[in-house]
Amino acid sequence: MGMIPLIDNLHDVQAKLPSHVTLVAVSKTKPIEDIETLYQAGQRDFGENRVQEMAKKAAVLPSDIHWHMIGHIQSNKVKDFASFVHMVHSVDRNKVANALNKAAAKNERNINVLLQMHIATESSKQGYELEELQAFQPEDYPHLTICGLMGMATFTDDKSQISTEFQCLQSAFDGLKERFSPAFKQISMGMSGDFQLAIEKGSTMVRVGSSIFGQRS
Ligand SMILES: *Cc1c(COP(=O)(O)O)cnc(C)c1O
Repeated sequence: MGMIPLIDNLHDVQAKLPSHVTLVAVSKTKPIEDIETLYQAGQRDFGENRVQEMAKKAAVLPSDIHWHMIGHIQSNKVKDFASFVHMVHSVDRNKVANALNKAAAKNERNINVLLQMHIATESSKQGYELEELQAFQPEDYPHLTICGLMGMATFTDDKSQISTEFQCLQSAFDGLKERFSPAFKQISMGMSGDFQLAIEKGSTMVRVGSSIFGQRS
């Protein structure tokens, strides 16, 4: 795909976003040149789901890019991105929160995280259950800034099911926010196929890949 369509695609997605919604451009599997093209058009937030790929890209791209880790994480890999990551969306168990907290301390920084909640009917999708989030102790992780929740809806064409799942994340967020610091204000939900529905349901961060970069092979 050439440069012009990429920027057009970016502008098409941006035009559908209210100003309070952050666009994370999901660049996984896509080349460095595509990220540079969007960077030159002003995009600064990029999402990756593999640790090594994100680290490789971050090493050669401008340092003011905000890198978002959105994929499943093995706790022994957090050291490979703890020094530079802007936000981790996919904290789905206390073991990962612990590893990130330790790595943040070692790097003398705080790391922004979202707690991933299991909202899909598919058991394959990761995430905390509501009861686990209600038991989560933010004070156990002094080097993490818990910025909100992330969720992924079931892979289906059934809009009403997706809508119900997004609603579930929004309700969980409302019920939980008092237990957290004022930084707890983000709901990361919505991808290429469903981000407008997600925004209707209260999303503040959308993670959009193929609508900007084209299909992944
Ligand atoms: C790949 C991915 C996305 C983006 O998906 P698209 O349908 O290409 O927009 C969003 N979130 C997560 C967690 C992903 O892995």
